[in-house]
Amino acid sequence: MRVKAAVIEGLNQGYAVQEVELDDPKDFEVMIDLKACGICHSDDHGITGDVPLDPPVIVGHEGAGIVEKVGRSVTAVKVGDHVCTSFIPSCGRCKWCATGRMYLCDRGALITVGTQLDGTHRFHKLDEAGTGIGQLCMLGEFAEKTVVPEDSIVKIPEHIPFEHACLLSCGVVTGWGSAATRAGIKPGDVVVVWGCGGVGANAIQGAAHSGAGRIFAIDPSEFKLEHAQGFGATDVINNAGKTIEEVLEPIFAVTNGQGAAVTIMTPGVNSAEMIGEAYRTVSKDGTLVLTGVTPWHVEHMNANMLDLIMGNKTVKGSLYGSMNPRHAIPHLIGMYDTGQLKLAELITNRYSIDDINQGLADMHANKNIRGVVVYE
Ligand SMILES: [Zn+2]
Ligand SMILES: [Zn+2]
Repeated sequence: MRVKAAVIEGLNQGYAVQEVELDDPKDFEVMIDLKACGICHSDDHGITGDVPLDPPVIVGHEGAGIVEKVGRSVTAVKVGDHVCTSFIPSCGRCKWCATGRMYLCDRGALITVGTQLDGTHRFHKLDEAGTGIGQLCMLGEFAEKTVVPEDSIVKIPEHIPFEHACLLSCGVVTGWGSAATRAGIKPGDVVVVWGCGGVGANAIQGAAHSGAGRIFAIDPSEFKLEHAQGFGATDVINNAGKTIEEVLEPIFAVTNGQGAAVTIMTPGVNSAEMIGEAYRTVSKDGTLVLTGVTPWHVEHMNANMLDLIMGNKTVKGSLYGSMNPRHAIPHLIGMYDTGQLKLAELITNRYSIDDINQGLADMHANKNIRGVVVYE
């Protein structure tokens, strides 16, 4: 069938919105009629090349919609079910899935390949050759409909609006879990969240629910810092044009010069220099959690190794908030239902797929906590 999709045709060219051909789902695959998809900074990594993809490719990995067709052998969902998607598939059989760490499923190694699990494409260009179009994370949700592996589907209740639910497919679980699951925050801890967009805002929510005594939000955007306070930040630091010493001063002032128990890094693009600065906010026995993505070629961080040892410090990565999406998404919907998790407040602007490049521009201009593409 013909559907409209936003395709990355080459590096640094934005999205080319066009009609494309979408195949029916094969065995163990599901077609979703998408209703909403958040614009995550990780989609932009495909445009800049920070995460190498193979154009033409459709990104978009924060979607929600209704199951339209199921391939043979699909048992997890039926036509009409409301679903989110997981940007890491979970096979249920590998060592990581079998030990309750589905976010580390071995099939995660395939998320930048572009094809489905059988090595073929579901999207095609309307050229004579029917050129295959890849799908980031095997999802490709900047399209009106998509076909994805059953492994990537998470069923959700029908009462939650799609534009709220879609945020759980990436940013909310990633940010929330970085704080509430991965960081090991204890009641009263001083916590720093560095980078306050769609992931950082949820790290703040997760830190607040974990009992953080004080939460410092750091960002160069006043707009994002204002929102950070709505999600639970007690203190804000606008680091635009500031030296690291100036950033450290208010954190050291309330910790007897020790620094934060936990710092979570959630910038749109991370770097060795920024990691080094964030490392300096962490106290002895403290933890630095790296969540925001560094370009693929960065192989070091600017931190003093002797300080790491003598300070008994921990630096850890976090993928998907170190949470299992098939449990985390319904679990967090339960908190949303009781008013404990803010989702509506994360959405700043909505776009049609025709306006997706405006959404991209607004993200870069720091105008959005989250922009969401909504499909009619
Ligand atoms: Zn994402
Ligand atoms: Zn697995």
